[in-house]
Amino acid sequence: MSTIPLPPAPGSDVYVSLALADSVVSLPGEHRADELVDPMAATRWLVDHGLVPTGTALLEYCQQRLTVLRGHLRELFAAAVEGRAPEADAVDALNSALRQAPSAEMLEYTPELGFHRGAAHPLTQLVEHALARISEDAAALLTGEGASLLDTCQAPSCDRFFVRTHARRRWCSTRCGDRVRAARAYEKKRAAAS
Ligand SMILES: [Zn+2]
Repeated sequence: MSTIPLPPAPGSDVYVSLALADSVVSLPGEHRADELVDPMAATRWLVDHGLVPTGTALLEYCQQRLTVLRGHLRELFAAAVEGRAPEADAVDALNSALRQAPSAEMLEYTPELGFHRGAAHPLTQLVEHALARISEDAAALLTGEGASLLDTCQAPSCDRFFVRTHARRRWCSTRCGDRVRAARAYEKKRAAAS
């Protein structure tokens, strides 16, 4: 399944890194939905989030880099929520994505064109730029005022991150809240019946 059957989690419209972290979610019954299942889906995700121009087509290698970064983001966010030290790998990965942001176009020479500027690997450069922007966003989230509001959904089986819009918010969506309340009501009824 590639589309996530839940409304966007609070904060994911503001923080693209949060949207990426939440682009995979566990669902009841051990199901999982992943918005980056294949290069086409990953391309759509990047286009939808304004990170690559329409018409870009990702290669499998690029899709993998995006999903690897997602894994590291989830580790960093989990560490922030749990108030523990993150895995060093995750910090390194974020920093290397930041460092790889292409800052300049290369100087090239061909007999036909003479000297000109251009990207040797436009696709790689697009993807690196997108990864850098997501990493920049994550670094800002983890060190800004949003950090103390970052949380994980308390509904069993759900593992989405969200930014709390009010102090008591515990679910990533009303769908998750309703599911928990329904389960509680069912338990209560069952306990009363026995
Ligand atoms: Zn949830």
